[in-house]
Amino acid sequence: MFHIYCPYCEEHREEEEFHPKGQAHIARPADPDACSDAEWGDYLFFRDNPRGIHHELWVHAVGCRKFFNITRHTVTYAILETYRMGEQPTITAESLASGEKAGNVQAASGGQQTVGASDAAVASVKGAQA
Ligand SMILES: [Zn+2]
Repeated sequence: MFHIYCPYCEEHREEEEFHPKGQAHIARPADPDACSDAEWGDYLFFRDNPRGIHHELWVHAVGCRKFFNITRHTVTYAILETYRMGEQPTITAESLASGEKAGNVQAASGGQQTVGASDAAVASVKGAQA
């Protein structure tokens, strides 16, 4: 069992309280009637499947029942950050490649694996690993 940081509850909760809902940041076409069948089909059915950093939509189903986003590494399964709807990730494949946020990434083995957006959550994770 591990814990996931909910950015709305602002605390780590058991993984069983959460459900993944697929790729995050999928924008609905502004004018669906102007889309071709291929564009509409791409919006409805096709998702990225990267090896590495992936931004996902999750729901805290047994908690606050709110949707939020997770940045997860698809190879290590490490959850690198969680953030609220409408916010942008601070960790992206591009920023990780440039080493910009490398100091903020923590891949713990077991226990708490997430780094929340708030300073308190970061401090609690760092404290747990000390
Ligand atoms: Zn919650």
